[in-house]
Amino acid sequence: MAMGESAQEILSRVFGYDRFRGAQAEIIEHVISGGDALVLMPTGGGKSLCYQIPALIRPGTAIVVSPLIALMQDQVEALRQLGVHAAFLNSSLDLDEARAVERALRNGSLDLLYVAPERLLTERCLSLLDSIEIALFAIDEAHCVSQWGHDFRPEYIQLECLQKRWPQVPRIALTATADAPTRNEIVARLRLESARRFVSSFDRPNIRYRIVEKTNPRRQLLDFLRREHPESAGIVYCLSRRRVEETALHLQERGFRALPYHAGLPAEMRREHQARFLREDGLIMVATIAFGMGIDKPDVRFVAHLDLPKSPESYYQETGRAGRDGLPADAWMAYGLSDLVTLRRLIEESEAEERFKRIEMHKLDAMLGLCETTNCRRQVLLNYFGEPLERPCGNCDTCLEPVETWDGTEAARKALSCIYRTGQRFGSAYLADVLLGKSNDRIRRFGHDRVSTFGIGQSVDGRPMTADQWRSVYRQLVAAGLVSVDVEGHGSLRLTEAGRPLLRGECGIQLRRDPERKRGGDRTRAP
Ligand code: ADP
Ligand code: ZN
Repeated sequence: MAMGESAQEILSRVFGYDRFRGAQAEIIEHVISGGDALVLMPTGGGKSLCYQIPALIRPGTAIVVSPLIALMQDQVEALRQLGVHAAFLNSSLDLDEARAVERALRNGSLDLLYVAPERLLTERCLSLLDSIEIALFAIDEAHCVSQWGHDFRPEYIQLECLQKRWPQVPRIALTATADAPTRNEIVARLRLESARRFVSSFDRPNIRYRIVEKTNPRRQLLDFLRREHPESAGIVYCLSRRRVEETALHLQERGFRALPYHAGLPAEMRREHQARFLREDGLIMVATIAFGMGIDKPDVRFVAHLDLPKSPESYYQETGRAGRDGLPADAWMAYGLSDLVTLRRLIEESEAEERFKRIEMHKLDAMLGLCETTNCRRQVLLNYFGEPLERPCGNCDTCLEPVETWDGTEAARKALSCIYRTGQRFGSAYLADVLLGKSNDRIRRFGHDRVSTFGIGQSVDGRPMTADQWRSVYRQLVAAGLVSVDVEGHGSLRLTEAGRPLLRGECGIQLRRDPERKRGGDRTRAP
């Protein structure tokens, strides 16, 4: 116990850090003095100390509600190594172990008790808490209370009982999910109306964002790694398990130390790969998004995405695992329209409610917007989180190599009429071939070598066009909502109402010019 010590003293003696980060000191003082708090801080920002230090200073035991068993165990283990008396109660304990924790709690010998919400809400646990002195309640991952989030946990809603039962015990709710609807729901459901709000910036200035067009993903990844990260630790995210394994193997064959990680691998192997990633230098983890929650490795130098994340939130979370140490780090992604088709299909085929699906689609569109923007990526990203950034960041691809735009009106019209003339049943690769006048079997079979748009796209305004450029035009038209992707039709493109004025010549459009690709290998088409 640390009675009499100041927060600053505990920070250095127990945790070994020199100074507080961001709003930590303020938050900690507020909670120590008994105030409620809502803390919005990005992942890696240092939320844990905000309740751990008050837990050590206020008399009694701090009760930490946490939704993830694995996370709980890691935190408790880390605290014990620092000499803090911490324990957890969840379904992973057998009866004897649980009884031992309860005894320690009753004796007052615990500084912190981590507990799963469903466990906490049992009458047994609540009345146990009645018999002890409680230092504070910390509600971690507080966005789990939000019905419209991805991590909704019904038990979280019942946590409002804490305020009724222990009105004098300070409560601190913490989350990295900051959008306004979620924030308001947390406040309302957890009865935090009078809590002080601490909102940190979500900007991660040391991360350099880059998004490139996906042409030959393996080749592009390899080039990126060889050129910029031959020996760095990093994470490569893929959508499917199969892709994870293939990519890991491919990197191993090319001399990289890469390990696969996905939920289909044996638990033993997952544990080992994760432990090696944390312990060894310069390992690359090729993973699905099953990997990363609660991973605390400060020197991850890059996060690469070979597939499009499903929302800006996911993109932010996943890229946010790079550069926790504050040193320069890269968030690199290769994306193409086929990613969009896959994700749309996943959403449509899911069992979720319609309303939920609409939110998901909307987020996916925002993600696409981030990919196709000609503005600073960081501005677009932070704006999405309700945190406008005043000027372009200077540390993303669009800032570093400003995107050239061009008057794409003529090209867009040709692209739209080609969709129309071929019956709105084809994807961008096919349409590009028709525009370029490529007379292959498939095109002849459909008779599309005889439509009026056949071959009209070999040049636009006197400039020759390539298939890549046409596909870029189509991606941008989709991002702008002028064309929609039909999931049922395996990614065929259709005209939307919003696209009609352009087709009729009533308005124009500016498009981004994708940088010319320099390497021969990059020119081959994505499979
Ligand atoms: P969050 O829960 O917000 O994702 P954590 O509490 O896990 O973040 O903290 C992220 C990392 O930053 C941890 O390694 C933690 O020890 C470290 N950290 C937190 N606060 C400080 C600080 N004041 N000085 C140095 N490192 C810190
Ligand atoms: Zn920028």
